[in-house]
Amino acid sequence: MTGVERCQIAIVGAGPVGTVLATLLAQAGQDVIIFEAGGDCAQDLRASTFHPSTLEMLDTIGITPMLLDRGLKAPVYHWRDRRSGEVIDFDLSEIADVTRYPFRIQCEQYHLSRALADGLEKHGNAQMRFGRRLLTFEQDDAGVDLAFETMTGIEKLRCDYLIGADGANSIVRKWLGIDFDGFTYQERFLTLSTQIELADYLPNLAYVNYVSDPDEWLVLLRVPSVWRVLVPTDAAMGDDYLRSDAMKSGIFKRLLGEDLDVSTQHRTLYRVHQRVAKSFGRGRVLLAGDAAHLNNPLGGFGMNSGVHDAFNLFDKLQTTIATGDRAPLELYDRQRRTVTHSFTQTQTIDNMAFIKGGAGEGHERRRQAMLALKADDDKRRAYLLRQAMFESLAQAREIA
Ligand SMILES: Cc1cc2nc3c(=O)[nH]c(=O)nc-3n(C[C@H](O)[C@H](O)[C@H](O)COP(=O)(O)OP(=O)(O)OC[C@H]3O[C@@H](n4cnc5c(N)ncnc54)[C@H](O)[C@@H]3O)c2cc1C
Repeated sequence: MTGVERCQIAIVGAGPVGTVLATLLAQAGQDVIIFEAGGDCAQDLRASTFHPSTLEMLDTIGITPMLLDRGLKAPVYHWRDRRSGEVIDFDLSEIADVTRYPFRIQCEQYHLSRALADGLEKHGNAQMRFGRRLLTFEQDDAGVDLAFETMTGIEKLRCDYLIGADGANSIVRKWLGIDFDGFTYQERFLTLSTQIELADYLPNLAYVNYVSDPDEWLVLLRVPSVWRVLVPTDAAMGDDYLRSDAMKSGIFKRLLGEDLDVSTQHRTLYRVHQRVAKSFGRGRVLLAGDAAHLNNPLGGFGMNSGVHDAFNLFDKLQTTIATGDRAPLELYDRQRRTVTHSFTQTQTIDNMAFIKGGAGEGHERRRQAMLALKADDDKRRAYLLRQAMFESLAQAREIA
């Protein structure tokens, strides 16, 4: 295609995963362009937890100090039982010998994407292009031809490699014809955010709390700007009711035990999935982050595992670009897909079963298992390393 603009690597999607990968590539001297459908990086309240392993990785691109500065340090998190009031707490300070960040950082994910986009806009190797929606692409042995829709027309470009970091509904994954196997939870999740100080009403609250209950389990998360309250909703109820004042007042009355007029900053409904792409790429086109895998938010692993994809893919892409050998890209697929199944999917599905609680034997068995690992020094340490996502990284490195 003569006369068509060219670049080495095109990334679709300016979420956390696209911006992290673009920063790695630009800092390594590759020529990279991010194409984003929106007019800016998305500002919605989704991920809020950065795990220790992710903070270490992000330090290598110089962004962890910003997260430490803007975020809240949460060394301790709680599994709580809503009915009995039991609290099982875990303290990441216990793994301070293996990480310089023995805590989660609670910070809204858009701070990461926006700060990295700022850096990319100033970087000589990178460009950020907002208002470009990828429509279609076609690959051959030597490159990939892309077509984007803009406000005023169609833009075309040819690149050596295309990365789909375009989220849950990834058009890149769909054009590749890769199956996205798994399931969708029947109930949707409602997140409410409020500036009311929940800790004034609920004593001994951590910044991260998973509260189990068979009727209305909760996730209570502190981020610098607000408290976030996440609850499951009845599949039979309509959107208008779920976002109504009556719904909101009921949730806060049951939570705080008082009929307060709580004002909210956000009321957002999410459909939640457990899905993994059958392959994380084909030829010169690769998938990373939510484009490749989705999981429920219990444990805070979605964005973190996407950032882990970005670092793994960066390494492999570097080798492939330098040598022309595609084998490293196949290794990326094997390593990241394997740990997505063995860790992220398994752990989040377990977390969902636990938080749903219930009076049955299953819940009591899981509760006893958690109490047993809390009481055993070795098991507790192994659990903390797993939750901090060090174990899944080590597991991926073992896969040849
Ligand atoms: C309620 C909730 C809470 C969560 N909490 C956590 C948490 O605490 N910790 C955690 O790790 N994860 C959490 N997650 C998951 C996390 O938000 C996602 O895993 C993360 O945003 C994925 O990042 P991404 O960059 O892959 O995709 P996204 O953030 O979805 O970014 C994709 C980008 O691609 C753009 N795009 C899409 N299609 C096109 C196109 N055709 N052309 C151009 N651009 C396109 C979109 O506009 C978007 O900006 C949570 C999710 C939810 C719903």
